[in-house]
Amino acid sequence: MKAGVLALQGAFREHAEALEALGADVTFVRRPEHLAGVDAIFLPGGESTTIDKLLDSSGLREPLVERLRDGMPAFATCAGLIVLAHEVVDGRADQRPLDLLDVTVRRNGYGRQRDSFEAPLDVAGLHGGPFVGVFIRAPVVERVGDEVEVLASHDGAVVLGRQGPIWFSSFHPELAGDLRLHERFLTEAG
Ligand code: GLN
Repeated sequence: MKAGVLALQGAFREHAEALEALGADVTFVRRPEHLAGVDAIFLPGGESTTIDKLLDSSGLREPLVERLRDGMPAFATCAGLIVLAHEVVDGRADQRPLDLLDVTVRRNGYGRQRDSFEAPLDVAGLHGGPFVGVFIRAPVVERVGDEVEVLASHDGAVVLGRQGPIWFSSFHPELAGDLRLHERFLTEAG
């Protein structure tokens, strides 16, 4: 499995480390040609407004959308989720989400006093106990469409889900010291 990690900005190294620990062949995706031969892609957390701009300057916006529309599996975490959303509330005015996930997210929606927190999450079908969700200035998922399968919720909001081959989390699974979600995604994507 050749796993791409969008490496324009944010927590891409941590995803790469998790994937390498699982034996995946990792490619950092920074330019359109890096998408060739990649079987699946991780969109990391970071700053969605910056990633949005860099998608244009790198020339990756269109080719990435094309691959994802063609069914390439993806795992979008935190800012990556914002990038793929249908609608972003409290985004920057010129932010252009890719509309590949039928979700509405509120950027930085967990509020200042809870900018960062951890919460044990019960993940549907995941063995070995709760998964610790690390939330860092995370988006709140305010709406999910009918095609979204909910895998975990916290405080009444979906925090982990998938729409077909595209998985998303509002937390950072790569920072939990727990490879179970990466492993499950790779198993299904492979
Ligand atoms: N608040 C960030 C944004 O708006 C996301 C934070 C994160 O990815 N940890 O893009």
